[in-house]
Amino acid sequence: MRFLLLIILFTFSLLSFGQIQRCSTDEYREVLKEKFMYNSHKKQDKRQFFYPSNGNYDIPVVVHVLYNNDEQNISDDRIFSQIETLNNDYNALNIEINDIPEEFQSVIATVGFNFCLVQEDLNGSPFSGINRVYTDSESFQGFSDGMKKSEEGGVDPWDVHNYLNIWVCDLNGNTLGFSTMPDDLFAFPEKDGIVIDYEYFGVDVSSTSPYNLGRTATHEVGHYFNLEHTFSSGCSDWGGDGCDDTPAVQYATYGCPSYPQESCSSNDMTMNYMDYTNDACMSMFTVCQAERMIDALLTYRTNLIASSNCSVSVDDFVSSNHISIFPNPVIDFLNIDIQNNFVTIFNIYGQKIMYEYILDNNKLDVSTLSAGTYIISVDMGHYKFTKE
Ligand SMILES: [Zn+2]
Repeated sequence: MRFLLLIILFTFSLLSFGQIQRCSTDEYREVLKEKFMYNSHKKQDKRQFFYPSNGNYDIPVVVHVLYNNDEQNISDDRIFSQIETLNNDYNALNIEINDIPEEFQSVIATVGFNFCLVQEDLNGSPFSGINRVYTDSESFQGFSDGMKKSEEGGVDPWDVHNYLNIWVCDLNGNTLGFSTMPDDLFAFPEKDGIVIDYEYFGVDVSSTSPYNLGRTATHEVGHYFNLEHTFSSGCSDWGGDGCDDTPAVQYATYGCPSYPQESCSSNDMTMNYMDYTNDACMSMFTVCQAERMIDALLTYRTNLIASSNCSVSVDDFVSSNHISIFPNPVIDFLNIDIQNNFVTIFNIYGQKIMYEYILDNNKLDVSTLSAGTYIISVDMGHYKFTKE
């Protein structure tokens, strides 16, 4: 095993000077195993799952931005765009969904995870969900986990049972990102979460990188919820990625291949988020992958959905108690048929924007809001409206 570790570390250092490493989760797991003599179960038995894949589960996220210079201190908009990408990808709302080849359309999954930036900090005070911390470290070595330790210039994770911790920092080694797996949670709670290089976090249309659309996080969140790479065991029939609806793939796929590509006597699902293609060329999870993630959520990470940090999600606006809200879209004043009551307005990222008391005039001034989609919450339910 020590020899294997040396090979891994040697490979990692070579990559420092070489090409991009799309994902280092597998290598990270090997390092954890060796370093801590912990035998994590890389290959799981194929199991039957019984959970519906159409549930709605709120996942509270805290993003730790570790920066040594302005470039590393990425904007709020970049972070919001990442949350939006996650919500699109985990709900089959991504724009590429209609271009998926017909043979794979029947297994496209809506996972039903709604990611939101947490609303409160650890003291219960209002919080943006973005934890910006200056660091003396110009960059972080991938598997040293320094980004996760305050004494090494990083940030200790927030309670890993209640938050999905994402560290955004300058990763040396040309690694885009890596994640812990659910079965690491009990042995290494202090390491639980996802690390992503700041250049590949969120949507950056000014970047010429093929990894500029936020799919590194989509992929790593898949690992965080127990997904394996689709090419995990090549053409071998044992183990694999634990999902029968992802065809066996011989090797990882890079770039943006045309369809069909064949290996292992079947067409490759190169557009699966758990392969290695460019951000623009990956577009789906399968039903089995969704069930596997939901199973991981309900087995290992139940506190996430029990957390009250995610009070409102994008798809949570439907209510059986009908309240009339008009006009919609609105420009200045929203008419609401309630009186003497508080209302809260959230943006689509779940951030609280406004908290107002409605007197007896049934009107709410929303003229100061930027154009966009919002959710208004009253004690009877949540409603969506658009500001022009
Ligand atoms: Zn991966």
